[in-house]
Amino acid sequence: MIDLKKLQKEIYQNKIDKNFNVKDVDLEFDLTRGELDEAQEAHQQKRSDLREELADVAIYLLGLAEILKVDLEREIVEKVSKNKKRRYKKINREQVDVDKQNIK
Ligand SMILES: [Mg+2]
Repeated sequence: MIDLKKLQKEIYQNKIDKNFNVKDVDLEFDLTRGELDEAQEAHQQKRSDLREELADVAIYLLGLAEILKVDLEREIVEKVSKNKKRRYKKINREQVDVDKQNIK
């Protein structure tokens, strides 16, 4: 299994080694969004670099997590578990979180 914690530290170190930004958090959010746009464009244009663009999204996200001192692996595992327990009900073609909306 992949060690995301190690990978996120490796990505951060690469940014340091190559003199990329690790201080301007808003810039990193923008760059991460930009990679998502590139992936969407690759998908829409049926380009072969879609997989690489998706990887860029993950790389930027992991780098951002390390800059913000967030253990993204732990957060993902916790959130996936939380999402599995959520109960939804379809109301007017919309998936509504039963527990959040207090619906029976
Ligand atoms: Mg890219």
